[in-house]
Amino acid sequence: MNTLLNSFNITVARPAAWRAVIARLVTIRGKLLMAFLCMTIVTGGLGAYAVASIADGARLVIETFDNSLMSISFARAAAVDFATMEGLAARRQIVSDETIRRDLAARVDDLADSLRDDLRIAADRSRSARAARAAETALKSAEAWRAAERAPVTDPAAPARWVLLEATSASVAAEIDLLVNFTAGDGFLNREKAVAAIQSNRVLTISATLVALLLSGVTVVTLARRIIRPLAEASAAATRIAQGELETPIPKGGADELGTLLRAMAVMRDNIRAMMGHEIAQRQSAQGRLVDAIEGSNEGVVLVDSDDRIVIANSQLARFFPAAGDALRPGARLSDAIQETAARDGFASTVPREVELANGTWLRISRGGSQEGGFVAICGDITIEKQREAAVTRTNRLFDAALNNMSQGLCLYDANHRLLVSNRQFAELHRLAPEVPRPGMSFREVLALSVAAGNHGQDDIETLYAAQMDIISAHHSDTQLREMSDGRVVAISHEPMDDGGWVATFEDVTERRRAETRISFLARHDELTGLPNRVRFRESLDQALSQLGRGHGFAVLSVNLDHFKFINETLGHPVGDRVLRAAAERLQACMRETDIVARVGGDEFAVVQSGVARPDDAAELASRIVSALGLPFDIDEHRVMTGASLGIAVAGSDGTSAETLLKHADLALQRAKLDGRGAYRCFEPDMDARMQARRALEQDLRQAVVNDEFELFYQPLISLETGRISGFEALIRWWHPTRGMVSPAEFIPVVEETGLIVPIGEWVIRRACLEAATWPLGLKVAVNVSPLQFKSPRLLPSVTEALAESGLSASRLELEITESVLLTENSDSLSTLRQLHDLGAHIAMDDFGTGYSSLSYLRSFPFDKIKIDQSFVRDLDTRRDSRAIVRAIISLGSSLGMRVLAEGVETAEQLALLRAEGCDEVQGYFFSRPRPRQELPEMIARLNQAAVAAV
Ligand code: C2E
Ligand code: MG
Ligand code: MG
Repeated sequence: MNTLLNSFNITVARPAAWRAVIARLVTIRGKLLMAFLCMTIVTGGLGAYAVASIADGARLVIETFDNSLMSISFARAAAVDFATMEGLAARRQIVSDETIRRDLAARVDDLADSLRDDLRIAADRSRSARAARAAETALKSAEAWRAAERAPVTDPAAPARWVLLEATSASVAAEIDLLVNFTAGDGFLNREKAVAAIQSNRVLTISATLVALLLSGVTVVTLARRIIRPLAEASAAATRIAQGELETPIPKGGADELGTLLRAMAVMRDNIRAMMGHEIAQRQSAQGRLVDAIEGSNEGVVLVDSDDRIVIANSQLARFFPAAGDALRPGARLSDAIQETAARDGFASTVPREVELANGTWLRISRGGSQEGGFVAICGDITIEKQREAAVTRTNRLFDAALNNMSQGLCLYDANHRLLVSNRQFAELHRLAPEVPRPGMSFREVLALSVAAGNHGQDDIETLYAAQMDIISAHHSDTQLREMSDGRVVAISHEPMDDGGWVATFEDVTERRRAETRISFLARHDELTGLPNRVRFRESLDQALSQLGRGHGFAVLSVNLDHFKFINETLGHPVGDRVLRAAAERLQACMRETDIVARVGGDEFAVVQSGVARPDDAAELASRIVSALGLPFDIDEHRVMTGASLGIAVAGSDGTSAETLLKHADLALQRAKLDGRGAYRCFEPDMDARMQARRALEQDLRQAVVNDEFELFYQPLISLETGRISGFEALIRWWHPTRGMVSPAEFIPVVEETGLIVPIGEWVIRRACLEAATWPLGLKVAVNVSPLQFKSPRLLPSVTEALAESGLSASRLELEITESVLLTENSDSLSTLRQLHDLGAHIAMDDFGTGYSSLSYLRSFPFDKIKIDQSFVRDLDTRRDSRAIVRAIISLGSSLGMRVLAEGVETAEQLALLRAEGCDEVQGYFFSRPRPRQELPEMIARLNQAAVAAV
C-alpha cells in the first residue's frame, strides 16, 4: 500500500486534474479510501474464486453420483426386462392356445421396448463411451434374440435356432454386465477428478487469503505510520497545551488534515501564550487594586484558602477581633486566630450569620467561595442597625400590644388600598380567623373575606366596595354604621392619612345602640305600660296643633284612674302596676290608629283624639273609656274595681295652645272627680274660675292656720242605755274672714291635699283635749283623725302631749278614724293605732259601711266603737236593706264586743228603730247640731234633762 501511495506521489503529474485527484488521495480520507478499496477488491476476488471452485467441485460430485447410480440402475432394469422376456418366450413355446401365445408375444414386445429404453438411459447417464458401446451391443444382441425367437419354427428341434437364442441371450447378459462395470469404473474416475479439483481450489484459496492478510497488515502499518502516530503526537501536544505547557513543541505535519491540524495547534498555542501573558499582567494589577480595596474597606475582610489558611486579612478585621492580635496574618489558620465561638461559627457558615461579640459589637458575617476552593468572608458592623432593630421590635411589640388590646378593630391601608396592619379585634368582629386578613391583601380582598364569612347577608361585594370607596375617596373623616347579618351593628370610622393611606376602626356598638334606642324609647315612652310618655304626648299635641288650621280638629282628654291610690295601698304596687298596664291596654283598645294615648303621671293618662269636629265626638270616646275602665280587672286572685274620670278640651273652642288645652282638660277632669268620679266632663269656661277659687281657698287656708281662724264645734253623742250624753264629737269649723263659716266637708279635702291637715289636726287634738278636760267627768271627746295624719310621725307625740298638757285621761279621748287608715299593707299606721290604744285612748271606726272592706278591717284591729255611716241611717225608715245593714252592723258589733253608734239621727222614728235594733249610741241633729263649746253646758243640761224626762 505504501508503495502504491508512493507511486501516486511520484506520479503526481503536471496536469491540474491529476493534481486535484492526487491532492484528494493524499488526504487521510483518500488514503483510507484507497487502502480499504484495495482490501475490498482482493477480498471480493478471493470470495468469488472460492465460490466458483466450491460450485464446480459440488457439480462434479453430484454428476458423478447421480449419473453413475442411475446408469447402473437402468442397466439392472434392462437385465430384468430381458430375463422376463426369456421367460415369456419359453412359455409361448410350450403353449398351444393361439390367443395366449399372441398375448405372450405382445408382452414380449412391450418388454423389448422397455429394455431398449432402459439401455438407452443407462448408456446416456453412464457418461462413459465404453458403457455406451456395451449398451449398444447388448441392444443389438437383444434384437437378435427376438428375431430368433419370432422366427417361424419349421422344426422345433432344429439346433440352429436354439443356439442362436442362447448365444444372443448370453451376449445380452454379458453386455449389460459390461455396461454396469464401465459405468462404475468411469464414475470412480470422475470422483477422483472432483477430489483433485477441490484440492487445488483449497490451495488457491489459502494462498489468496494469505495474500489478503498480508495486504491488510501492510494497510494497518501504513495507516499507523501515516495517521495514528502523528494523531497521538498531536493530541499529546494539545493535552500539554491544555495543561498550560505553552512551550510544548508541535510536530510538523504533512499536507493532509493532520498537518493542517498541527499547524492550527501551533497557532493556537501561540495565541494562548499571548493571551495568558496579557491576563497575568492584568491580574497582577487587579490583585494590587483588590488588596488596596480590601485594606481600605470599612468591613473586615479575610481571604482564606482551601486549607483554612489566611491569604489576606485587612486591618478592619483585626480591629473587630483585637484579641486575635498577630494571629490574623497570612498563612495562619483562621479558626485558630478567631477565639470567639460565635464568630468562628459565623465564618464556618455558608449562609450569612449575625453574631454578637463579647464586647457587645454585632457583626454580620457572610462568605463566598473562592476559585481556589477557599472563601472570602466579610464582616460588617451592624451594632447600630441591631440597636435600631431592637428598638423597632420593642416599639412593634408595644404597637402590637396596643393594637390587640384596644377595644376596637383596626385596619391600616396604604395609598394603594393594600392592608398594612390589622388587629385581632378586627378579625373577631368579622368572624375571621386572626391569621386570615394578611398584610398585602387589597381592600377588596379583605372585604371579600368578610362577605364570605356571611357578615353582609344579601349585600354583594360590589355594592359594599362602592359604598366604602365613596367614603375613602372623599378623604375626610367619617363614621358609618353597618348592620351585620347577625344583627350586630358595627361603627366604622375612616381616617385619611397624609400619605394617601387610611385607617379604619371598627367598633361593635350593638349594645350601645340598643341602649340608645331603649333610652330614646324610654325618653318618649313610659317604661311600665309602653305608652308614649309626657314628652312624646307633648310632641304629638304640638304636631296636632300645627295641623289644626287645616281642618284637622282634635280633642285632648285627661284621664285619671279612680281610687288607684287605694288599689296601690291595699293590694301593693305590683298589683297596682298590673292594673296600670291592663288599663293602658284597654285605653289603647278604645283608640283609633290616629289617636295618641299617653301615660303622663302615676294614674294619669292623656289622649289626643284626632278627627274631632264636635265635642260630641270626644264625648263618645270618653264614654267608651269610662265603660272600659269601669269593668273589673282580674289580677291573680284579686278582682280589682277602679274606674276612670275624664276631662275633655276640644282644640279651637277650648284653647289653641298646648298649655291651655291641657289645663282645660285637667279642669274638666277635676270637675268630673268632684262630681263623683267614674264620669267625664267637657271643659266649660267657668271651670277655670272655680279652679281659681280653689286655689284661693288653699291660699286662705294657709293664712287661716297662721291667723288661728279655726274653731271646734261639738255634737253630742247620746247613750241609748242611759239616754244621756256620753260625750261630744269635736268637729272643726273655719271662720273665713269674708265668707264666714266654711264647712269641713269643703276644706278638709283641701287641707289633706296640701298637707295642712297635719298642723291643723294637731291643733284639733290639743284643743279638744284642753276643752274636754273642763267637762264633767265621764264625758268623752271624740276627735276625727285624718288618714294622712297617720302618715306623719307627729300623731303619737301630739296625742301624748295633748293629754299631758290638758291632763285629760286617755280613756276620755276617742279617736275616730276612717277605714282608709288601715288600707296600707305596710302597717305603720296599725302600729301607731295600737300605740294610741295602748295609751288608753279609744278607737272608733267612723263612717262604717262606706268603704270597700269595712268588715275585714274589723279583724285587723280591736275597735272600741263602730260608727254606722249616716247614709244608712238616713234611709232607715224607708229602705229595708238599710235597716238590714244597720241590724247586721249592730249585731256584728255586739258579737265582737264593740259599741255601735249610729250617725245622722234626725228623726224620732230613726231613733226608735235604732233603739229597737239594740244600737248602743246615737248622734244627730235630732239631738243637736254641732255647736260651739260655749253652748255645751246648756246643751248638756238640756239633753240630760230630756233623757231623765224620757226615762
Ligand atoms: P263625720 O266625722 O262623720 O262627722 C259627722 C258629720 O255629720 C258632721 O258634719 C255633722 O255635722 C254631720 N251630722 C251630724 N248629725 C247629722 C244629721 O243628723 N244630719 C246630717 N245631715 N248631718 C249630720 P260636719 O261637721 O260638716 O263634718 C263633716 C266631716 O268633716 C266629718 O264627718 C269629718 O269626717 C270631717 N271633720 C270634721 N271635723 C274634723 C276634724 O276636726 N278633723 C278631721 N280630720 N275631720 C273632721
Ligand atoms: Mg266623725
Ligand atoms: Mg261620720
